Amino acid sequence: MTAFWTEPDYDDHELVQLVHDRASGLTAIFAIHSSHLGPGAGGTRFWHYPDPKDAMRDALRLSRGMSYKNAMAGLPMGGGKAVILADENRNKTPEMLAAFGDAVDALGGRYVTAEDVGISEADMVAVAARTRHVSGLPAAGDDAAGGDPGPFTAMGIYHGIKAAVRHKLGKDSVAGIHIAIQGTGSVGGGVAKLLARDGANLTLSDINEDRAAALALELDAETASADAIMGVACDVFSPNALGAILDDAGIARLEAPIVAGGANNQLARAHHGAMLAERGILYAPDYVINAGGIISVTLEHLCREHGDHCDINEVRQRLAQIPERLEEIWQQSDSTGVSPDVVADRMAQKLIGR
Ligand code: NAD
Repeated sequence: MTAFWTEPDYDDHELVQLVHDRASGLTAIFAIHSSHLGPGAGGTRFWHYPDPKDAMRDALRLSRGMSYKNAMAGLPMGGGKAVILADENRNKTPEMLAAFGDAVDALGGRYVTAEDVGISEADMVAVAARTRHVSGLPAAGDDAAGGDPGPFTAMGIYHGIKAAVRHKLGKDSVAGIHIAIQGTGSVGGGVAKLLARDGANLTLSDINEDRAAALALELDAETASADAIMGVACDVFSPNALGAILDDAGIARLEAPIVAGGANNQLARAHHGAMLAERGILYAPDYVINAGGIISVTLEHLCREHGDHCDINEVRQRLAQIPERLEEIWQQSDSTGVSPDVVADRMAQKLIGR
């Protein structure tokens, strides 16, 4: 087996650690990409990987993505990620979560964890019994930050879509703008509700067709099949399900002048950002537009560390800065001819001293 540090996804990560606990059966990988701006922060993914090399690749790629996301969100945090290698049946036990909490604690605050795919708020509460280096815990009241990051991510994307519509189409409102949404889960569903409130025309799609249909009924929206959504002629295509959907075939199918959504790692390969630009499609870099969740969990964590009340309005103010950051990226892209994803990467790299 090749050493992971010779893999293309290894990017001078500061720490990569495998933890195995025989008693509970926990196997986890911790990756800290950069701590230039603060402790590595990023969620824990609980996933079954038929090939463990994919778990390592996820830990390396996702932790680097968190360095960029936290830096661009102006947060005093570096980039980290944990991946728990689940078995085929995705068995998750209290003992496993306790062992995971101990492993986070042993890192002494170099890594702060939170929810990601396969990890719930209740799981984070269990982890918090073993370590204080954890966030995404239930909010302490209606006016307090905390809890499920999904709605905050959705709010940031809503602001970002409005900014994209302003930049590309010169319109100050999304009323009457046709937006195709891929994925109607925690993030996509939240984005749809916010846009519907403003009078946008929505086409919704989910592989869980009942979920998309129920939301469409509630919001008076259209639906499209999971196969068709990327080819819907519309003003904005908003991916809120899977990563790597913007590949050669996906980009060729797009019938929208804007791509702006919350899915992580939307570009299949680095050159796909340029391919979007060549087609005249405005792209909102994913880790900039989808930073709402990490903004919420980070502010919650910092407040708890300092024993302060964390006002939800502070989170809302930070979310409202996402459009400014996007606008700066698009303006630089317009004036230099460099695609927005590369402009964003360069900004992020400068911020983390790379
Ligand atoms: P979720 O599991 O709540 O929802 C995802 C939805 O996408 C599900 O309803 C699923 O059925 C649907 N889906 C899966 N494949 C699909 C396909 N091919 N076509 C249409 N629908 C499909 O997850 P979520 O929390 O809403 O996250 C969505 C995306 O946003 C993920 O890429 C995630 O990494 C990213 N993200 C989430 C957050 C957050 O705060 N939750 C933050 C940043 C980024």
